[in-house]
Amino acid sequence: MLTFLRSMSKEKDLRVTLGLDDIPKRWYNLAADLPEPVPPPLNPATREPAKPEDLAAIFPPSLIQQEMSQDRYIDIPEEVMENYVLINRPSPLQRAVRLERLLNTPAKIYFKREDLSPVGSHKTNTALAQAYYNMKDGYSNLATETGAGQWGSALSLACSIFDLDCTVFMVRISFDQKPYRRTVMETYGGKVNPSPSPLTEYGKKMLAENPDTPGSLGIAISEAIEIAAQDPNTNYSLGSVLNHVMLHQTVIGQEVMQQLDMIDTVPDYMVGCVGGGSNFAGFAFPMIGERIRGKNETKFIATEPKATPSMTKGSYDYDFGDSAGMTPLLKMHTMGHNFMPSPIHAGGLRYHGMAPMVSLAAELDFVQAVSYDQTETFKAGMMFARSEGIIPAPESNHAILGAIDLAMQAKESNEEKTIVFNLSGHGLLDLAGYDRYINGGMEPSGKTL
Ligand SMILES: *Cc1c(COP(=O)(O)O)cnc(C)c1O
Repeated sequence: MLTFLRSMSKEKDLRVTLGLDDIPKRWYNLAADLPEPVPPPLNPATREPAKPEDLAAIFPPSLIQQEMSQDRYIDIPEEVMENYVLINRPSPLQRAVRLERLLNTPAKIYFKREDLSPVGSHKTNTALAQAYYNMKDGYSNLATETGAGQWGSALSLACSIFDLDCTVFMVRISFDQKPYRRTVMETYGGKVNPSPSPLTEYGKKMLAENPDTPGSLGIAISEAIEIAAQDPNTNYSLGSVLNHVMLHQTVIGQEVMQQLDMIDTVPDYMVGCVGGGSNFAGFAFPMIGERIRGKNETKFIATEPKATPSMTKGSYDYDFGDSAGMTPLLKMHTMGHNFMPSPIHAGGLRYHGMAPMVSLAAELDFVQAVSYDQTETFKAGMMFARSEGIIPAPESNHAILGAIDLAMQAKESNEEKTIVFNLSGHGLLDLAGYDRYINGGMEPSGKTL
């Protein structure tokens, strides 16, 4: 026992923790450091850059300002910072020693624990900020979409904290398959509707065309925007893709930078999964900024599902963020706004597009993308669960597989590489997927469920 404790105390990197005073005081904006401007959103009617007033029907002024900001840092309001404590910030950076041993690799693998938020994912980092600014700017209700239910849960919690009503359109297939996610949202006071729904014109149209549609994030976004655009007290809130969401998530990467400093480590690789790009951006952008300033040579790897390969197979083009074509056009890697993804378990990765900032960073070669089959990601998630004890979100399994691939390459070349990945969430409400994997019936890219 004593020997164990003594050897543990030598390994200061097993769990690197920060104190409450170390919660970042400002968000970091990569737009200030990228060598090219992020292409602006376009008004679909005129194809001219969207003006702040084009967005005012659905977003509060403070978030529109952040969306267009070129400032390198934006101060985090006190009220948001206080609530970062409630979602377990700052979160630990942990070393996956047992996974390293299992892989028998000379590589060191670290992971950032975004699974410790009460709703189980990184999404609360921006949900709290968005609910706060909407409250501050005088709105009383937020409408939103949710795929797997993580974003709807995060926003329902944030609305409960800042005393707003929350209406959620949940992609039908998840609504049917993940009843406990719905209960989480309802516990926090969210009102949850399956999408497409008969509550909106667009939902009615989709139901008329195909009453059995599994739905998609693009359709659910259209429904939430329709509701928000009609009611002056209701705004729309998006859990990923937009610049202000990337900004809010950078608390993750700024904490990671402090934690890596504490163990004198500059990683060779940083890996994150990408749906709309927000956990990856939040995790990697502060370090990409440092790389642009010549301070590191880290490689940044974005992992996505083969079922929605927007970065590896999509085009880099202006496209709508939703299915109905109500949003401004965004310059992004996209499968096309009417793309209907297979119903894979990683619901948070079933989005047709990629954040404009992540897309540009990839175009400029700061980010490399890889795509994986569903079954191989679950295999990686099982290895992680059995060695490190945490059952990861199906989305996060893509990041874990990315890290394992790199650790196996390091083993082949016998190099002590350092790999850090973002554990974007836990999978305790995604057990149906694990059941399919363990007891049979999982298709590689989720063609049947
Ligand atoms: C939503 C979600 C994702 C994907 O969204 P990003 O904006 O790409 O981060 C990944 N992991 C988890 C756990 C999620 O809930």
